[in-house]
Amino acid sequence: MEMKGPLKWARQDIRDMVPYQAKVYPDGAKLDANENPFPWPQSFAKRLQEDIATYPFTRYPDSEAKELRQALCDYTGRSAEEILVSNGSDEAIQLILLTFGGPGLATVISHPTFVMYGMATRYVGGQVIDVPLKEEEGTYRLDVAGLLAAAAQEESRVIVICNPNNPTGNCFAEEDIIAVLEGTDKLVIVDEAYYEFSGKSLVSRLQEFPNLVILRTFSKAFGLAGLRVGYTMASQEIIREMHKVRQPFNVNAFSQRAAVIALEELEAFQEQLRAILAERERLLPLLKPFPWQVYPTDANYVFLRPFAETEEEQVKLSQTIHQALLDRALLVRKLGGAPSLNGTLRITIGEPSENDKLLQALEEIYDPLQKRWAL
Ligand SMILES: *Cc1c(COP(=O)(O)O)cnc(C)c1O
Repeated sequence: MEMKGPLKWARQDIRDMVPYQAKVYPDGAKLDANENPFPWPQSFAKRLQEDIATYPFTRYPDSEAKELRQALCDYTGRSAEEILVSNGSDEAIQLILLTFGGPGLATVISHPTFVMYGMATRYVGGQVIDVPLKEEEGTYRLDVAGLLAAAAQEESRVIVICNPNNPTGNCFAEEDIIAVLEGTDKLVIVDEAYYEFSGKSLVSRLQEFPNLVILRTFSKAFGLAGLRVGYTMASQEIIREMHKVRQPFNVNAFSQRAAVIALEELEAFQEQLRAILAERERLLPLLKPFPWQVYPTDANYVFLRPFAETEEEQVKLSQTIHQALLDRALLVRKLGGAPSLNGTLRITIGEPSENDKLLQALEEIYDPLQKRWAL
């Protein structure tokens, strides 16, 4: 299209992109973004409040986030040189692609997965090679042979594995991830955003695999989504390169302090974590009687596919369920934009009262005699 004005100088590939849209609904239970549903633990909130009262915010933050990286050493068992903190793990994904990706280079992902890998690839002018997950026995598996074939392509630089996978919720078989690591010397990113919920990590394998990069975040289990703190663990060599492309003050002082104190108050967050996991165990069997496929989950959310004869009907059903829940002040995530996601839903485990409301709303829109949605 012929453009007038300065936009004609904007990169065509950026103009072609669809922006990430985070929907905001003011009221009701927010079960759409996999956040920790609880308010901050009191001990944490109190300490943070006292701390910031005297903190020198007039000064730039510590560019190297030394205190936070030190605290993360204790939490992860890695050394400070193997850790980089970032403005959410979203930024870490960008830093990796700024360092290893670019025009003419490719990122290998397995759909359906977290959208930011593809978006960050496009920011840097690269391409996505999609090796779809395999749906097997009611869960999702990595296509190891397909991933390795894609990784072997000249232009491939980075393979991303989200574990547990967002939005499907499951962890992949560890031997499959190891097989990918063993089969390529390209970078293998393992996104462990939901590590605290799954309890599974490849952190102990970093030494063994110099191409392994692990991403984590404070946004989910630690309830700091609004403060934007993530971190990357990899070899010192990889971390050193990533430091070159980040903004010098990428994580603000308030967020650095909050993350340090969160780790000091680990016990309080672990208590919340246990409550979320208990709710997950309670909720899952109660979701199963409804006419949708409930996928197994290792995270704090559950992936659902309404039963339908056709894809079209399934899309319609998921939209109607989403709207019916919204009408009852319950916001869940309606997924789409790809054949594997069309007509699916993702629901975050909420506080007990929110989960009760969800179950009650589902009862209202379900007809047990006909065994179908009564929408
Ligand atoms: C939520 C999420 C992140 C997020 O990160 P921020 O640290 O908030 O930027 C990263 N990866 C996955 C898979 C997520 O679901």
